[in-house]
Amino acid sequence: MNVEENMIPFMKGLKRRNRGEKEFHQAVYEVATDIIPFIKKHPKYQNALLLERLSEPDRVISFRVCWVDDQGNIRANRGHRVQNNNAIGPYKGGLRFHSSVNLSILKFLAFEQTFKNSLTGLPMGGAKGGSDFNPKGKSNAEVMRFCQSFVTELGRYIGPDIDVPAGDIGVGAREIGYMFGQLKRLTNKFSGTLTGKGLEYGGSLIRKEATGYGAVYMLDDMLKHHKQSIEGKRILISGSGNVAIYAAEKAIHLGGKVITLSDSSGYIYDKEGINAEKLALVKDLKVNRRGRISEYLNTYDAEFVADQRPWHLKADIAIPCATQNEISEDDAKALIKNGCIALVEGANMPTVKEGIEIFQDNKVLFAPSKAANAGGVAVSGLEMSQNSARLSWSEAELQQYLKKIMHDIHEKCVTHGTEKEYVNYSKGANIGGFIKVADAMLAYGVI
Ligand code: NDP
Repeated sequence: MNVEENMIPFMKGLKRRNRGEKEFHQAVYEVATDIIPFIKKHPKYQNALLLERLSEPDRVISFRVCWVDDQGNIRANRGHRVQNNNAIGPYKGGLRFHSSVNLSILKFLAFEQTFKNSLTGLPMGGAKGGSDFNPKGKSNAEVMRFCQSFVTELGRYIGPDIDVPAGDIGVGAREIGYMFGQLKRLTNKFSGTLTGKGLEYGGSLIRKEATGYGAVYMLDDMLKHHKQSIEGKRILISGSGNVAIYAAEKAIHLGGKVITLSDSSGYIYDKEGINAEKLALVKDLKVNRRGRISEYLNTYDAEFVADQRPWHLKADIAIPCATQNEISEDDAKALIKNGCIALVEGANMPTVKEGIEIFQDNKVLFAPSKAANAGGVAVSGLEMSQNSARLSWSEAELQQYLKKIMHDIHEKCVTHGTEKEYVNYSKGANIGGFIKVADAMLAYGVI
């Protein structure tokens, strides 16, 4: 049987059991194309139904979240936690608050997280959670009431040795603070149950920078491995949230020329390049003032293109850092036509399946999210260790850890993904992430 023949019954079963969950199907398909042939070649993994078990979450928890808005109206949202797999450590993964959140998206994210966490080499299982609550336009008091209600329910299912949530889209330091405070009140325990905490109450240095910095360390390693460098390269970045801002910061620091950032209303194109001073304005605008990216034009010369993504501009490198499926097949073709040599996924699954194939067919260096954005969860893992040991590591120590973890991930991708001259980073990450989890599952027998 060839790969396709094995894929068809596997995917048919997955789609039947998880009807209409297209993001989840997409994420599992992408992993299965590499793992099914790998299992076929390695007898010890055969007949253990590993991929079927990995793609069936250990459990999915759903709950109602009621809160009262500033006008005194009762509001009801839906909350979820998908605990995908804890074979190699406590469940770990972010919480997303966005109107688009549904079980398909959270199941895809929890599945991906399982492989990503394994790649970091740290003892963390995979999970993801969140709510269809939209924090945009809500007052601080409303966000606080929502967070308190959300974690009052979620709190029954998490703990430092059980499941340790963190932030994601719509969940930053403010939301983690509200949830940690409520959890502490409910349990009467000061524990490391959430990561991404403020430095005053158990947070880790460089956590907020880690995902973006890590993605650029990955890019740096990929380019060096292919005898190139970031210096002087034109870089397109989407998003202007946590990941985008720090990816831009590190890329600028290493001599790259970042020419775009975006948000859900469109993108800005600064052909002179966004420097450290301009980026400081974006940080203030998006983090402190919760404004729109178009307000960049109030201070600096640039173009704002409404309701579009930046992928049709001429550039050497693309770092998508907004959301899933933000690079279509057409975008992939345009990037290649305009000279793109490398794409690093800062966001989770930002490239559609057909886009990935186009990049790989054209030998573009393509770092999938499970490898490229693992720096965030890696430093979250280090936050857990610091909390357990009741100590705080210095910024220099943590930077060293982050660099080393990203470098090791790059090496795993090269080891498992090199095909003649080309490194297939997706294949390398899928196999590299799979082995540790699969070996632990085999050790446990049938559970
Ligand atoms: P933030 O909420 O801080 O920022 C998200 C950014 O993306 C904002 O600029 C937002 O625009 C934009 N955006 C969100 N949804 C859409 C959409 N549907 N269309 C266009 N733009 C959109 O999130 P993060 O930076 O934390 O996360 C970004 C991505 O990185 C996600 O895929 C997340 O899962 C992934 N990730 C994050 C990690 C982390 O440590 N934070 C770790 C690993 C992965 P607007 O301001 O208009 O909402």
